[in-house]
Amino acid sequence: AIRVSDIVKRYGDLTVLDRVSLDINAGEFITLLGASGSGKSTLLNIISGFNKPDAGLLEVDGEDFTRRPPHKRGLGMVFQHYALFPHMSVWDNVAFGLRRQRRPKAEVQQRVGDVLRMIQMDHLADRKPDQLSGGQQQRVALARGIVFEPRVLLMDEPLGALDKLLREEMQLEIRRIHQELGITFIFVTHDQHEALTMSDRIALLKHGKIVQLGTPKELYDSPNSRYVAEFIGESN
Ligand code: ATP
Ligand code: MG
Repeated sequence: AIRVSDIVKRYGDLTVLDRVSLDINAGEFITLLGASGSGKSTLLNIISGFNKPDAGLLEVDGEDFTRRPPHKRGLGMVFQHYALFPHMSVWDNVAFGLRRQRRPKAEVQQRVGDVLRMIQMDHLADRKPDQLSGGQQQRVALARGIVFEPRVLLMDEPLGALDKLLREEMQLEIRRIHQELGITFIFVTHDQHEALTMSDRIALLKHGKIVQLGTPKELYDSPNSRYVAEFIGESN
């Protein structure tokens, strides 16, 4: 489980996260939802370690993670802009991090093969990223996030660049992978429909505060404010 306690982040006079507290259960699919600038990426990056809080505490399974460097947190990341290496094949893109850690060759073969099968990309393992569709590139980015067998997968608007149909297909795919892996997924989106269909729970952020935390049904049926009602009810 992950415990975020009273996290504060400021840039100059601007308070981007204002004493945010959030308990994330092991194995759940939680979404950080909110308008642009509400602090979603900042909170995610504090959990990943790429960003340092000004105050507050981050604990993972009871251990203090607040000052632990990102590569020692055991977390996987998937970004909106997939950041694939253009000159490398799908296989090499997924294997890259494992090879850099000097894992045994047989283990790399096994892991990469398993992950590519899981995301249904094993038949395209020799392609370069520019020979793939957007959805296929997104699958490779997902593979790179899970190949290390992280205990938590963090995703910042991973479907933002996809058109509507592909987006819906990948929403289902990410849900399926979540069930298959059984690890914690922390997903960021500004799209309330996406949050409602994918999440076990949603934390709705507004100006650096969590205004409501609950299941999709709770936010939809019992919004605690007009802001939540309007944000959740908005159609796009
Ligand atoms: P989006 O949906 O647009 O990605 P977000 O909810 O992820 O938005 P953040 O990226 O967390 O928002 O940014 C929250 C606020 O912090 C914004 O007002 C942003 O301008 C500000 N901010 C983020 N990074 C910095 C920085 N390095 N320096 C100054 N201000 C920053
Ligand atoms: Mg963001």
